[in-house]
Order: sequence, then C-alpha cells, then structure tokens
Amino acid sequence: MHVLEMNHVEKSFNEQNVLRDISLSVKEGEILSVIGPSGSGKSTLLRCATLLEQMDKGELFYLGEKAAWNGSDGTTVYAKKEKLKEIQKNYGLVFQNFNLFPHMTVLNNIIDAPIHVQKRSKEDAIKEATELLQKMGLADKADAYPCQLSGGQCQRVAIARALALNPKILFFDEPTSALDPELTGEVLKVIKSLADLHIAMVIVTHEMAFARDISDRVIFMAEGVIVEEGTPEEVFASNNVRTQNFLGRYG
Ligand code: ADP
Ligand code: MG
Repeated sequence: MHVLEMNHVEKSFNEQNVLRDISLSVKEGEILSVIGPSGSGKSTLLRCATLLEQMDKGELFYLGEKAAWNGSDGTTVYAKKEKLKEIQKNYGLVFQNFNLFPHMTVLNNIIDAPIHVQKRSKEDAIKEATELLQKMGLADKADAYPCQLSGGQCQRVAIARALALNPKILFFDEPTSALDPELTGEVLKVIKSLADLHIAMVIVTHEMAFARDISDRVIFMAEGVIVEEGTPEEVFASNNVRTQNFLGRYG
C-alpha cells in the first residue's frame, strides 16, 4: 500500500507553471529524496502534498484515502474539511526554519499538538516527548526555550515535535540549509536514525552524499518536471546531461 500517491499534479503561480504533470508515490517505510536546482518546484510539491497549497489539477491520496481528485471540469476538488483533518494525521512536516513556538519551552512545543489536536492525556504526551527528546540527544533541554538553543538543536526539537504525532510519513524541506555547516551533521544523523522506525520520508535536500546514503529512491526535479527517478545508484550515475550538470555543481 502506498502511504502517499500524487497523480498528474499541476500548479501555476501567475502564469508560471511551477509543477507540470508531477506523479509520484511513496510506500510504507520508504525513503525518497527530492533533489534539484533552486526554483524547480520542490517546496511547492511538498506544500501541495501537505495541503498548505492547493493544486490546480491532480490527485492526492494518503493510504488509499482520497484527499483530492479531478472534478468534472478537470480541476482539483478537495475532500471536506473533516476528512482532510483525518488525512492530515498521517503526516508531519519539518521546515527549513524550524517554525518552533518561540514562547513555549521545548517540552511544550512537543506536547502541544498531541494534547490539543490528538486529545491525548498530558501525562502520556509528556512521557512520549521525554522519550523523543532522549532519542534526539536533547534530554536536558526540555525546559529550555528555542532562543536558548543552537539551530541544530532547534531542528532536532522540530523533528521530535513532528514524530510526537506518530506520522506514517514525514516531509522534510531542506532541513539543514539554514544551519551552519558544523551543525548539519547532527541533524542528518538524527534523520538517518529515523530510518529504523519504519516511517516513510520525503526529503528535499541539497546534501547529495546524505541523499545517496539514506534513500531508497531519488527524484531529480528541474523546471517543474521529474527529470529522473531511480535508486541512488541509478540517479547519481546517470548520463542525463541535466542531471550531470546539477550533480557537478553540488556533488
Ligand atoms: P524550490 O523549492 O525547488 O526552490 P519553489 O517550489 O519554492 O522551488 O518555487 C518554484 C517556483 O515557484 C519559483 O519560481 C517561485 O518563485 C515560485 N513560487 C513559489 N511559491 C510561490 C507563491 N506563493 N507565489 C508566487 N510564486 C511562487
Ligand atoms: Mg524550496
């Protein structure tokens, strides 16, 4: 069963076709990296997948449930709000800039949604958050505020916060690109450690060695289309001129 399926997605901003007939699917536990030049539509793709942006055309499924489909006029129709709320429980999103709540402690950042969205008991939420902080190497930071942490620590809190909702799939949009180089490694290591949890991941990244190492599959995007898709071995050894030019710059 596919956790995520997107079919023939189209998205434009003011006449600019940012996503042009994009189709992709992700299986349970699968790790997919999305690479490609700046402006190629990677963030827009993640934003469409996570309902932060509306598609113009195309279908979106989570675990076979329809979040969006093509209506009779060919444009996308979305499921009702209640249904979308259910569907949203399947995924978590980690942004480039962490997006933590600045006025809340690390612990409260993590337990907020489990208590208020999932209606779990505070005791249960704290127990799980404490375990997650331990896993992220942040056991001593529960009572700290985001401004007291390094960027790498903030991003690990953001990952713990996403995991606290027990998602089937996690999306990462350039999770290390706002970090100083010396902090990148600790975040990549944490993401790698999640591979054992059997959570599917879609990772937009410019860290080519990481993408090659961690992924089951890699997609190379340029100008709103999927230029290539395959195993890391296939994509990184590709003869395609566009892929080679891109990898020559980043690899
Ligand atoms: P990437 O993440 O690969 O760098 P993006 O998805 O952020 O690419 O952007 C793809 C293109 O879409 C860019 O040209 C960008 O300027 C444009 N774009 C993205 N979001 C918007 C928006 N909300 N309004 C107008 N243009 C946008
Ligand atoms: Mg982007």
